[in-house]
Amino acid sequence: MTKNNEKMLKGIAVSPGIAIGRVFIWASEEYNITRQQIKDRQIPVEIVRFEEALIKTRSEILEIQRKISKEMGVEHAEIFNAHLLVLEDRMLIEEVINSIKKEKINVEAAFVDILRRYYEIFSKMDDEYLRERLVDIQDVGKRVLRNLLGKQKKVLFETDEQAIVVAINLSPSDTALMHKDKVIGFATDMGGRTSHTAILARSLEIPAVVGMKTLTPSVKNGDILIVDGNQGVVIVNPPAAVIKKYRRERKKFEDFEKDLSRFTSLPAITQDKHTVEVGANIEFPDELSSVLAHGAGGIGLFRTEYMYMNRPDLPTEEEHYQAYKKVAEAMAKKPVVIRTMDIGGDKFVSHLDIPPEMNPLMGRRAIRFCLARPDIFKVQLRGILRASVHGNLKIMYPMISGLEELRQANQILDEVKSELRRKKIAFNQDIEIGIMIEVPSAALIADILAKEVDFFSIGTNDLIQYAVAVDRVNEKIAYLYEPAHPAVLRLIKSIIEVGHDHNLWVGMCGEMASEPPFALILLGFGLDEFSVSPVAIPELKKVIRSVNIEQAREVSKSVLKLSTAREIEVFCRARLQEVLFNNKTGKGK
Ligand code: PEP
Ligand code: MG
Repeated sequence: MTKNNEKMLKGIAVSPGIAIGRVFIWASEEYNITRQQIKDRQIPVEIVRFEEALIKTRSEILEIQRKISKEMGVEHAEIFNAHLLVLEDRMLIEEVINSIKKEKINVEAAFVDILRRYYEIFSKMDDEYLRERLVDIQDVGKRVLRNLLGKQKKVLFETDEQAIVVAINLSPSDTALMHKDKVIGFATDMGGRTSHTAILARSLEIPAVVGMKTLTPSVKNGDILIVDGNQGVVIVNPPAAVIKKYRRERKKFEDFEKDLSRFTSLPAITQDKHTVEVGANIEFPDELSSVLAHGAGGIGLFRTEYMYMNRPDLPTEEEHYQAYKKVAEAMAKKPVVIRTMDIGGDKFVSHLDIPPEMNPLMGRRAIRFCLARPDIFKVQLRGILRASVHGNLKIMYPMISGLEELRQANQILDEVKSELRRKKIAFNQDIEIGIMIEVPSAALIADILAKEVDFFSIGTNDLIQYAVAVDRVNEKIAYLYEPAHPAVLRLIKSIIEVGHDHNLWVGMCGEMASEPPFALILLGFGLDEFSVSPVAIPELKKVIRSVNIEQAREVSKSVLKLSTAREIEVFCRARLQEVLFNNKTGKGK
């Protein structure tokens, strides 16, 4: 620390670029409750605030119930009755009011105290039904607090000033609310390279560093910060000379990006004319302009679960249809892989009543959730099928771990197809169906699964996490998250080979596909499609265009003889440099 309080901290670089600006500390709803002593005359004011928040929450829930009952049937709307019961619980209401009166504290603090007590009591109950009421209490509690606190999220992300957001953690739904023109960078204490928050930062093209561990306690609102998303460095209150140096670095990075843009419109073809597909991963239809500007040959992964976030209700069939139609039309005849929702894990959707789980990344997420709630799944499938007449849409199921799951998903899809046929609603009868291979069990039975699908897309973000037993969002063990782990490479090689043996095309939509040194290995293994964040496309095309397939095969054979991820990475980086240096004709014109 210097007299300026300058401090340099190291984290995990997750989204390239350099941001220089003032800190805005973001605390999630749970952290933002301050306890204030109040005067006697404020007591009635706080009680009225509480009553108003209860009334507002009640009308919100009734509105959700009305919508769900219209779209999905009364029986589904009934689950919200439990929420209404919590809101009307006289004992809870009186306890909060008494606490405001007796302890002379603000309503938020009183409410959180009482909720916490309820939570403790319910969590110790033996009765499973009563224990499950915890979720209702939590959910209603959050809604009431949000209404008490006002529109806090909006205040943050619609702030007039540009800011660098610093947080202990950012959920993917928080991150999805960021506006690039306001949030110029962010840094979080938690998180790993393939957490969805990190992936979103790349999609939004916001420089970001995660896994900082101790940044939040080291800064205050208004501090000056440099976020170096290339090196994974954050500097707090830098002196003028350091700011100047980083402005120069920023300019260099912008020039580097400009230089790469020469490759956007060129095909992804090796020197010896072997063509692969380079597609984009997207989270929102809004990203289409970036997808087209970066030269994507299609969309290899549309993470549709974001359509379910930051809203009090479920997307309707019409909303699904419009979103997929927009993407299909914008991409003309290019392939667009719509992944059915992957809710759960770190992508939590509060209004869906998903109970907290001990291991959410291995819990009832993705296809598991969809098979448990076919009513919700069918709405999405109908939207996709209807939109399939507007372009080249394909359907992909996430987290398939065995054949039965795949068959059940296809069975539901068949039901939806029959329904559409009955109603004479047009859709592409030959729509391709694929699965993500992201669970090791699926990788190992790829030959069995291959017989019942049209394509595979390797989801390395999850495949690595499950194969190496390393939580992808945990910064403490991020050092173990190694795409080049020999076990991971063996799995990938085998998935591609099995896919090809069954005449399937095999893509990769995990983040590994966007890392240039690994492109040589993947090309050598015979990967047909790379689907990456739009910003990563030009550099990937540059690499592909610089190499010839024999060189790539030689790399992929050599790495299989090495024993550690570290050795493999060093080897690949060196080979990539040689290839880029020697095969100059790969450059765009
Ligand atoms: C993956 O797991 O590699 C993947 C692409 O899916 P997601 O990152 O959304 O889990
Ligand atoms: Mg995944």
